Amino acid sequence: MLVDVGVNLLNGQFRRDRDAVVQRARQAGVDDMLIIATDLDSSMQAIELGGVLGMRCTAGVHPHDAAAVTPGWQDQLRQLATEPRVCAVGETGLDFNRNFSPPTVQREVFAAQIQIAQQVDKPLYVHDRESQGELMQILGTAGLLPPVLVHCFTGTAAELESYLQAGFYIGITGWVTDPQRGAALRDLVTHIPTERLLLETDAPFLKPFNTPEDWPGQHGLGSRYKRRCEPAMLPYVLQMMARLRQQDVAELAAATRANAERLFGMGQPSAQGSIDPGNVIPP
Ligand SMILES: [Zn+2]
Repeated sequence: MLVDVGVNLLNGQFRRDRDAVVQRARQAGVDDMLIIATDLDSSMQAIELGGVLGMRCTAGVHPHDAAAVTPGWQDQLRQLATEPRVCAVGETGLDFNRNFSPPTVQREVFAAQIQIAQQVDKPLYVHDRESQGELMQILGTAGLLPPVLVHCFTGTAAELESYLQAGFYIGITGWVTDPQRGAALRDLVTHIPTERLLLETDAPFLKPFNTPEDWPGQHGLGSRYKRRCEPAMLPYVLQMMARLRQQDVAELAAATRANAERLFGMGQPSAQGSIDPGNVIPP
């Protein structure tokens, strides 16, 4: 059994067949998913959807959406972050690859969310794309941090080292299967201690390249879904990681699942009740 710690279930690409997507994931052995939010609206929707599906979610503002926050957003987010279904604050961080929001705004909105995570005492769900070490600098001077997941890690050896030294968890996606873009990452993943490793799809993005060509057809999906990634494809990320790290597939699945349980309280029957703060043990 596997858990996917990053699914954009609210993305428009899942609007038509979300229930089927969840069902296919469960049939593929992915029995729990973390629904990730990218702004206040999607945070509210994630809490609602999490309630329907019995899943946990994040609440936060993605760096791409940083420029769209409105006055009072911090109070609103703090409130949402206290919801029992919310097991982390994020996605939040820096993305200087595309700069959909100006870097200055990204920094402000990130800093505010670090504080919120500290106040509500829940993990930070961090997105870092080409911040050239700045994200680590900001976190390094932010005082006592809750547990941190660097989701969809695609950075350099130096960045990985600084994250690991700081005690952060590392999320790996299908990026690692990309013949070109994933080459550097494939060399680095052997350096991640098993107890710090988490697996995610970031669906509907980053479809693993080792997914069989006819996967959509096998699942009765037309050609319009050819490029879409689904949480049911997490086993392909697992297989690649097990091969690269020369680990047993079942053992790696169990270990990464245990990490998600420890960090986010995932993989357990998530009854209406709240996440036990006792589950969130700092590394
Ligand atoms: Zn991200």
